Amino acid sequence: MKTKTEIPHNNVYAEGIFKDNVNIENNVLFIKPIVPFYLVRALVKFIEEITKIVYWDGENLKCPVCGRKLYRNSYSKKWINKTHLVHRQKYICSNKECDYEHVTNIDHIVPKHCNYEIEIRNEPYKQGLIDYKSLEKISEHIKNNYGANPSRQSALNFYRETDSTLKKLETEVLKYDKNELSNVIAIDEQFPRVNGEKKAKSVIMDIGTNLILSDEIIPVKDLTPEFNEQTIKNTIKGIDVKGIVTDGDKSYAPIADSLNIIHQHCNFHLKKNLMDELNKILNKIKRKRKSLDRQIKDITLNLPFKEK
Ligand SMILES: [Zn+2]
Repeated sequence: MKTKTEIPHNNVYAEGIFKDNVNIENNVLFIKPIVPFYLVRALVKFIEEITKIVYWDGENLKCPVCGRKLYRNSYSKKWINKTHLVHRQKYICSNKECDYEHVTNIDHIVPKHCNYEIEIRNEPYKQGLIDYKSLEKISEHIKNNYGANPSRQSALNFYRETDSTLKKLETEVLKYDKNELSNVIAIDEQFPRVNGEKKAKSVIMDIGTNLILSDEIIPVKDLTPEFNEQTIKNTIKGIDVKGIVTDGDKSYAPIADSLNIIHQHCNFHLKKNLMDELNKILNKIKRKRKSLDRQIKDITLNLPFKEK
């Protein structure tokens, strides 16, 4: 077996982690669920002698119900990526009176009723974020990187699943309890690039809690005073807003007035706007000074006697 390679001493930490979670006995690879599947794939690829992959929770476990020893008792088999047969260790309680049973859980690696590991399932979405890619290209990438060969339809399904999971998460994140809010809100815009295209991002947040109340990415041309007014109106429905903080954009004052909300310019933006004006004058003076300095230097160099 090639597994007894000496690991250098400065890698003691990694070696410890490895020892606790990866064991190979009689050509059987025993791994804890914490071990990511890409490592399993690599081990199986490089250590040809491995004949069986077992995900287990370890040895000498105690029954959480009665405290007696747990026996290892057969396996529950599962194909991952249709390429790797994985055995999940089953445990039963040694106490005949107790009917506790347990199977090592790897749902975070392959969700129940799924054939492909989560990494592969997320791949179409990840690839799509980088650039537009055809399903054919995405499948090819998965084949090269994972050795797995999901159909194009599966790749498309994975894309949709990840997309809808992320959308659900986003709604979760945007959920808040209205009683927590400070009721003073701020609105601001940024101009990020999305797939190389300049977009407008409009964010409304509650200042006291930093909770994001609204977060939208729209084409730059759609970022109009009307859009801002509608977004603010929709966002503050049901909230007793006491004040709104904005940058110096003149379109906000009439909106705040029409909604009967106290309006304040953001201190940072106020300072920035003032400094922008001031810097114009300061830069002019600096440039003038630089040119005068240069002139003085030239004159000094050309004096018939040198200055001490
Ligand atoms: Zn028990």
